[in-house]
Formats: sequence, structure tokens, C-alpha cells
Amino acid sequence: MFNDIIKLIDWLFNFFCFVFILLLLVLNNQEKRWIFRSSISCLAKHIEPELTAIKAAGTWKNERIISSPQSTVISLRNGKTVINFCANNYLGLADNKEVIAAAKKALDNYGAGLSSVRFICGTQEIHVELEKKLAEFHNRDACIIYASCFDANAGLFETLLTAEDAVISDELNHASIIDGIRLCKAKKHRYRHRDMDDLEQKLGESSSSRMRLIATDGVFSMDGTVAPLPKICELAKRYNALTFVDDCHATGFFGKTGRGTEEYFNQLGSIDIINSTLGKALGGAAGGYTVSTAELVALLRQRSRPYLFSNSLPPAVVATGNKVLDLIRNDASFLSSLESNTQRFRRKMIDAGFTIGGDNHPICPVMLGDAKLTSEFADKMLEKGIYVIGFSYPVVRKNKARIRVQISGAHTFEQIDQAVDAFIEIGREFKVVS
Ligand SMILES: *Cc1c(COP(=O)(O)O)cnc(C)c1O
Repeated sequence: MFNDIIKLIDWLFNFFCFVFILLLLVLNNQEKRWIFRSSISCLAKHIEPELTAIKAAGTWKNERIISSPQSTVISLRNGKTVINFCANNYLGLADNKEVIAAAKKALDNYGAGLSSVRFICGTQEIHVELEKKLAEFHNRDACIIYASCFDANAGLFETLLTAEDAVISDELNHASIIDGIRLCKAKKHRYRHRDMDDLEQKLGESSSSRMRLIATDGVFSMDGTVAPLPKICELAKRYNALTFVDDCHATGFFGKTGRGTEEYFNQLGSIDIINSTLGKALGGAAGGYTVSTAELVALLRQRSRPYLFSNSLPPAVVATGNKVLDLIRNDASFLSSLESNTQRFRRKMIDAGFTIGGDNHPICPVMLGDAKLTSEFADKMLEKGIYVIGFSYPVVRKNKARIRVQISGAHTFEQIDQAVDAFIEIGREFKVVS
């Protein structure tokens, strides 16, 4: 009897010890989770209203997933095949067989990547070759390549300009130019979009500066409009200012031999500094660059932070650029189909009663005005197998909503006509055209 009671007490003691330890473990774990949850929920508290506001403003961006290479016809993940009118693949080189073969060969010969910035151990002969070809393409002394044109724009202004200088920038310049300018200490002036009187006034206001730099996109991507370079160069000369052009939507395909905006105006060599990208017409892989004088490029190599502190471009990407330049620099045939496709689309759409913005550029904004109409219109186009994107405020000005169509030299006339037919059919449905 006594023994049994001792056993029972012993058993109960063990049992409660076990429960107690279990409880401790569970509580401890919960506490950890509780701490973890509290910091995350604090973060969410800040972020959620912002996400809600983006959705409420109708500016939420969804990403459609593509399951094929970039091309004029692409497959979406849902199995649907659509004709693509929203890539910057102006010359259709993104899936060019020779370009892909060159990239594969570079992988074999030069590896996947450099694991280094350029000045430590990240420069191969193909990097130097690409810089030489790009400088030659633009007929400039020198070129420096970056991981992107965003980086080229981020690195330029801070390196070149001091607090004694001034930069005068078109108000609709690309975000990367705006950010690049933010990083520098120069005095900042903005002139109204392509308004040369306003530019002249800002040049007058900044006359006490040591050095002045006028900065503009060559072609503005939302409108397909071109910066008035002849006038900009004339003002630059008169006011002793430097000129900078970001030619991302022009390099390789705009102007008689694809040399960009300065060639479009028959003013080759007139711009002091050009930044551009390999991520659009020139194969579409990645990479950006600056071409200018040997001195400026030398200074950028010493001081430009996105160049000094970011990884060297991967060999396959560099080989893509080298091959594309071999293909296009002495062969204007890539340009003729882009030109005829652009003319065909613009003429047919205007004949049908649509308003097309821009200056005869492969960026063809179909102006619709209303934001809701524009997004519904674009959705219906996709249902008909035509992939186009609508843009509305705040990406473009209020009541200036549009569907931006981008023509490629690789489109066939049939594909262009299919797009026009779909625009007309849906346009009638929405009473945009009769
Ligand atoms: C696309 C674009 C860029 C960015 O180029 P990435 O090489 O993709 O970084 C910069 N400026 C302009 C005007 C562009 O259109």
C-alpha cells in the first residue's frame, strides 16, 4: 500500500515534469513566433496602405509570364500564342540564330561570368572588343560599358559635374536620367518638354556656372517624339554648354544607318556625350554604355561608381553585343523592313481614323484619351491575339491615355495588318472609329 502511494507520487511527479517541459518548449516556440510575427506585422502595417493605394489608383502592374524567347510571336504561360507589339525588339535580333550561337560559344570560351568588377579581374578581350565596336559605331573616341544604361546614367553626372556646374534637363526625361542627376551636386534646372524657349531661358539663368550640361532623351519612349537636336545644339553652342543625349530608343535603328537621333537630323557627331543600351534594338540582352571623348571615358573608368562597384558584364551578353554590331554596322537591310512596317502601320491606322502620336518612329502611340477605355481596349486586343499595353496617368499625362504599339523589323505585313484589323474591329465596338 505504502509502496503503491510512493510509486503513484513518483509517476505523478514525472508526468508533471514532462508536461511542464513540454509547455515550456511550446511557449518558448510561440514566443519566438510571436516576436517574429510582430516585426513583420509592423512592416506590413506600413506597406499595406501603399499597396492598396496603388491598386485604388489603377496603376498596379501585373507581369504576364512568357514561355518562349522574345520574338514577334510569343507564347504565354497559359498556352496562348500572341503577336507581340510591345517589345523594344526593333530589329528582331533578340532571337536571332547567329546572335544566340555567338552567346553559346562565348559561354564555352569565356565562362558564365567574371565574379569581378572590371578593374580587378573582370576584363576579357571581348569586353574591350565591344567597347571598340561601339565607339566605332558612333564614330567617337572611346566607349565604356556598364551593366545597364540605367547604370550609365547613374554614373555619368556625379562623375562629370561639381557643385559649380549646372545641368539643364527636359522635364520628361527617363527615370534613370532623373536619378543620375539627383546623385550629382550640380545646380538642377528643368525645362518644359521640348520647349526651346524655356531651355534658352534656363541657359540664361545658369550663366554663372562653370560648366553647363543639357540633358535629354533622344526619343521619348511614351510618345515616340524626338528631341529637337538641331535647336538644342545651336543653343548649346551659343551659350557654351555641353550636350548629353540618352539614345536608348534610337540606337541601332533610327536615322538612315541606325546611328540614332543625331543621324535622323543629319547631324552626326554633334552630341558631346551619348548614353545608350544593348537591351533594346541591339539584341535585347543587357548592358549600357557611354560614348564620348577619350578623356571623359578615362575619367568614368576611374570614378563612375556603378562601373567601379558592380560586376563585369557576363561573356554571353558581351558576345551578343559584338555579334549584333557585326550584323548591323555595315548592313542597312535590317532597317528597311522596320521603316516599311512603321509606315504601313501608321498609314493604315490614320486612314482608319485613329490618332497616332509621335514623329514617324516605330513607337506608335494610339491615342485614346480615357484610362478605362484604354485598359479595356488593350485587354480585348489580347483576346484577339495582339499583345499591346495601355498606358495611363501617372505614366503619361491625365486624359492622354494610349495604347503604345511598337513595330519591329521582324514583323510581317500580315502581322501588321492583323493588328490594324483588330484595332478597327474593337475601335468600332467602342465607337472610337466609325
Ligand atoms: C530603357 C531605357 C533606359 C534603361 O536602359 P537599361 O539598359 O535597360 O537599363 C535608360 N534610358 C532610356 C531613355 C530608356 O528608354
